[in-house]
Amino acid sequence: MKHTRTDRIVVIGGGVGGLTTALLLAHKGYDVHVVEAQRHWGGRLRFVHCDGDRIDAGPTIVLLPDVLRRILHTCGICDVRMQACDPLVRMHFADGTTCARRADPQAMIEEMTQFAPEAGAQYARYIAQMEQRYAWGVANVLDQTFTNYSWREPARLFAQLARFGAMRSVHADCARFFSDARLHDAFGLQSLYIGGNPYTTPAMYALIGYAELAYGISYVEGGYASLVPRLVAAAQQYGVRMEHRTIERIAWTARGRVCAVTHAQGSIPCEAVVYSGEMHRLAPLLGMRARRRWQPSSGCFLLYIGIEGTYPDRDVHAFWLCAQFAQHMREVFRTGTLPTDPAVYTFYPSRIDRSLTKHPDDSVLYVLVPVPSGSTIHWADVQQSFAARIVHMLERRAFPKLSQRTRWMQMRTPADAAAEGLFAGGAFGLAPTWTQTAMFRPQLRPYPHMDGLYAVGASVHPGGGIPIVMKGAEMLVRSVF
Ligand SMILES: Cc1cc2nc3c(=O)[nH]c(=O)nc-3n(C[C@H](O)[C@H](O)[C@H](O)COP(=O)(O)OP(=O)(O)OC[C@H]3O[C@@H](n4cnc5c(N)ncnc54)[C@H](O)[C@@H]3O)c2cc1C
Repeated sequence: MKHTRTDRIVVIGGGVGGLTTALLLAHKGYDVHVVEAQRHWGGRLRFVHCDGDRIDAGPTIVLLPDVLRRILHTCGICDVRMQACDPLVRMHFADGTTCARRADPQAMIEEMTQFAPEAGAQYARYIAQMEQRYAWGVANVLDQTFTNYSWREPARLFAQLARFGAMRSVHADCARFFSDARLHDAFGLQSLYIGGNPYTTPAMYALIGYAELAYGISYVEGGYASLVPRLVAAAQQYGVRMEHRTIERIAWTARGRVCAVTHAQGSIPCEAVVYSGEMHRLAPLLGMRARRRWQPSSGCFLLYIGIEGTYPDRDVHAFWLCAQFAQHMREVFRTGTLPTDPAVYTFYPSRIDRSLTKHPDDSVLYVLVPVPSGSTIHWADVQQSFAARIVHMLERRAFPKLSQRTRWMQMRTPADAAAEGLFAGGAFGLAPTWTQTAMFRPQLRPYPHMDGLYAVGASVHPGGGIPIVMKGAEMLVRSVF
């Protein structure tokens, strides 16, 4: 279906996917209307506020900063200040050793030689393979839309992936390159950034860990969520209409063409709809039954803590690994039980940003524990004791006297995420499995027979994470409008 500039396009959802789509469409001269169910803009990209402090509630790791910058530029936002993080992330192992992941190859090799004297050669082999895979993956998967593909396409894709050895799991793939088991975790756990089990997620996703090393991790000054008011202001400046309503129905004609969206107070006629919510909710909005059962990503147990004073030795991004990482992953992805001895990620932006707290001598901390999505855990019963266990572990290993120095603390469980509409309480949308990747993931045209219906966002190809969701929005606008 061809669209003309006089078409009205309704974007359902004001997360980063919806806002980016709206801005790019407005730039092209379309009449755009964004409708968001929550009272805030940004979806998962937002702040937690308490006592005059703020800290990012969801995304913290700015991967592919150049992609982010480029798309923001296209949206007319050119003055975002970012700082490169060094180290990128520090891995703290249960035996007390640490490995800082660094963008500088020589510094990275120096870190690794404590674990294996031959690390230099191992790292060189890893980078050489990943460079090839990355170039292939960007050209053949990330930059591709799979709205029309022949039956040969999946076969061709899998044949090439097999040639790269990318059919095994991310973790098994790392074990091919590195001799020390600690490095398998240090180089393999990045599939967790999109809610995937490192022991089963296809090695194609090892590219996340490679992208981190090759392109760095940045920090958006003021916090990642400070992008949201910028996106909203730019959208308003370009004449995008924006309102807070929950869309209850997408109406379509007998000829299968969308014609309006309806909410509790009325309807908005339109020629196209871009849906940017979770996929399991799209079919009911269309008055249809879901065609497929999807698999959710992992959930997150989150603590946000206001701290008296600072911990000057702590890094911005750190993982605190446990003795049995495989067991933690089994509990998250197989048994659906509360982790007994979990690995924990900490984000301590106050290390480089003093603007986040009311008093510049204080600091804020974000703690994320991968936990099962779904409803196998009754969070209301266990969340307090689980939080106490996590704080105790952090006090012992990372932040001495944390509980004494805590000024405020908030927590968020998968039950809260589910209540806000995230699929099965998973944090990252659809899990990155083979059957939910590339042409097998929902596409920019999720129902190709339905004219004027499009989708963007974390659960749509090319996938989750802020820059990738923005890339999906860019691909949609470029390929359809
Ligand atoms: C804890 C956590 C940590 C993360 N860490 C990172 C990270 O470090 N780096 C990174 O890049 N990414 C990270 N992510 C992932 C990133 O946040 C997401 O990929 C991205 O924000 C998804 O954007 P979206 O627009 O697709 O979805 P959302 O942000 O979920 O936005 C969708 C919006 O649509 C609205 N909506 C849905 N249905 C309707 C309806 N019927 N009517 C009106 N509105 C509707 C929803 O209310 C929501 O606001 C993290 C996510 C979480 C939860």
